[in-house]
This record gives sequence, C-alpha cells and structure tokens, in this order.
Amino acid sequence: MILPIVVYGDPVLRKVCSAIDKNYEGLDELIKNMFDTMYKANGVGLAAPQVGKPIRLFIIDATPFSEVDEDEEPEYTPEQMKQMNGFKKVFINARILEEEGEEWKFNEGCLSIPKIREDVMRQPNITIEYYDEHFKKHTDTYDGVIARVIQHEYDHIEGRLFTDRLSPFKRKLISGKLSDIAKGKITADYKTKLYQAKK
Ligand SMILES: [Zn+2]
Repeated sequence: MILPIVVYGDPVLRKVCSAIDKNYEGLDELIKNMFDTMYKANGVGLAAPQVGKPIRLFIIDATPFSEVDEDEEPEYTPEQMKQMNGFKKVFINARILEEEGEEWKFNEGCLSIPKIREDVMRQPNITIEYYDEHFKKHTDTYDGVIARVIQHEYDHIEGRLFTDRLSPFKRKLISGKLSDIAKGKITADYKTKLYQAKK
C-alpha cells in the first residue's frame, strides 16, 4: 500500500522518535508499505516519521545509485556501485556510535521537502548499531554514499532535516520555498499529506 508522505512543516518530522520492540503492532506491514511508498516516489531511503509515525525505523535501498545509463559518466567507482546494487535494508532502533573522517559534500534531497536539493557536508565514515526486521542486532561500519543515505535517514528519527545542516545564508535563500511547502504550495510527483494545524 502506498502511504502519503508527510512534508515539511508537520511537527512529526521534528520529533525525536521512540524505540520500538518486536511486538510493535503491524510492523511487518508498515515496513512493506514503506518500501512500496519509497519505490513509488523514486526515493532511496524513507523514515517512519515521513509517513507520520514517530518511531525509530527507517529503510534504505541504494540500488538506484548503482544504475547508470550507458552514455552517462559513472559517478562512483565500480566497487562502490557493486556495494550499492541491492543494498536494501531495514534499520530499527538505530544508534550511530561513531562518525569519522573529513567532511565531504553530497547533493541531498528529501521526499518530505519536494523539489529542493542542496549540497550537505557530513563525515564519510560511520559505525551504526541497529536491529533488522527480524530484530537481529547488528553493528556495521559504512562509508561513501551508503553512509550518507544512512546519516540522512538517521537524522529523521532524531527530528532533524538536511536543511538544518545548511549554512544560515543558504537556509535564508530557500526559506521562501520551505514556507511554501509548509503552506501546502507544493507539486510533488507522489502522494503527500499536508499538515493541518489545529486552530
Ligand atoms: Zn529525508
């Protein structure tokens, strides 16, 4: 089932999300619906607050990064592309234990902030502890684009958005567009849910 995606301005995107356990009602179905929703919107990651649930759950499928048209110059090394191809994972109750290395720039976008993309600086290497969809615990290290996608989704479960990481100047430049999104003046190619503030 395709779920509507919550957009900028909805307070659920600002919540520090709660941990869940394996008895969380409807978890399997929620995960399945989140994948359906993410694929439909051509995303590579989706966090539960983006579908209105303030819980520590996000999903990733980095495969689109490994698909390059033949006439395109590949952006990544063959090794990175191989790593991204089929990198489909569920992260539950994730905790980033370590971030290391010199910050690098990557152009990020977000399904909750349609039509805005900006370069964001983050560290390249992370160590993350999480549970998979079977509640098996993992501690993994990632780098490159995969680490980047994880960091972006992890921010969501901490109530942060990539726009928070821009310089005050850049943020000012896009502030008009952001308030338009919050007011519902958006055009997205997927189903969105507008926040209706209670009067
Ligand atoms: Zn996002």
